[in-house]
Amino acid sequence: MKKIANILPECVACGYCMKICPLRAISVPKGIGAEIDESKCIGCGKCAKGCPAQVITIIERGRADVKAKAVV
Ligand code: SF4
Ligand code: SF4
Repeated sequence: MKKIANILPECVACGYCMKICPLRAISVPKGIGAEIDESKCIGCGKCAKGCPAQVITIIERGRADVKAKAVV
C-alpha cells in the first residue's frame, strides 16, 4: 500500500516541512497550514520526522482522513 503524509489541524504553519520535502509536495498557503500535493508526495516521512510541532503522520493512501484538513 502506498503511503502519504497527513497533516493534522494543529499545524502552526511554520513552513519547515515545505523547505525539507525533497519532492516539493508541501505548500503552506497564506500561513493557514500546510497542505500536501497528493500527486507528488511519496510518503518518505522526512517531513514527519522534521516537523517541530509533530503534527504530520504517514498514512496509507485512500484513507478517509487524508482529506480531514481540506481547506475551502
Ligand atoms: S513543519 Fe509541521 S508545523 Fe510546520 S508547517 Fe509543516 S506541518 Fe505545519
Ligand atoms: S512524506 Fe516525503 S514526499 Fe511526502 S510531503 Fe513529506 S517529505 Fe514530502
